[in-house]
Amino acid sequence: MLIDLSAILRGEIRELEIDGEIFPDAAPFGIEYLPGARISGIVSGSAGLVTLVSRVTVPYRGECARCLDPVEAVLEFDFDRTIVTEGTVSDEVLEEKADEYLVVKRGILEPDDAIIESIYLELPSRLLCSPDCRGLCPKCGKKMTGDECGCAPREIDPRWNKLKELLEDDE
Ligand SMILES: [Zn+2]
Ligand SMILES: [Zn+2]
Repeated sequence: MLIDLSAILRGEIRELEIDGEIFPDAAPFGIEYLPGARISGIVSGSAGLVTLVSRVTVPYRGECARCLDPVEAVLEFDFDRTIVTEGTVSDEVLEEKADEYLVVKRGILEPDDAIIESIYLELPSRLLCSPDCRGLCPKCGKKMTGDECGCAPREIDPRWNKLKELLEDDE
């Protein structure tokens, strides 16, 4: 996405709405991006300071870390940056504060790489189909739901019972 900021940089306008599609390519292992990733927000300039305030939304698919069911979700996060013209901030600072600055070159802003990097960092490292997913039954391998999979409740090794008694006696 190329955003022409020359009018804002010249002070001719104060605000510019942006709304565009993003095409993230390399997803982390186990994640697949679905079509429709977007950024929408506003670039504003006043007193020589140009800022971007925006929201990124990314539909994606993965699998539940416990039961391996497919999970579809939408990642949403704020993407706010200070926009600086090329050469005004040293490369060192830009690298250190990659989450603060965006560089505009010859009046054109191309934020895609920075957005894609943020998407990568914002994705949850562990997906769950629901917060209380109980995963798979260790006996039959089926998904454990409210009324179990039909397997008998786990039996406890009698030797552990003996140990339990000993521990209880101790108290
Ligand atoms: Zn699950
Ligand atoms: Zn089972």
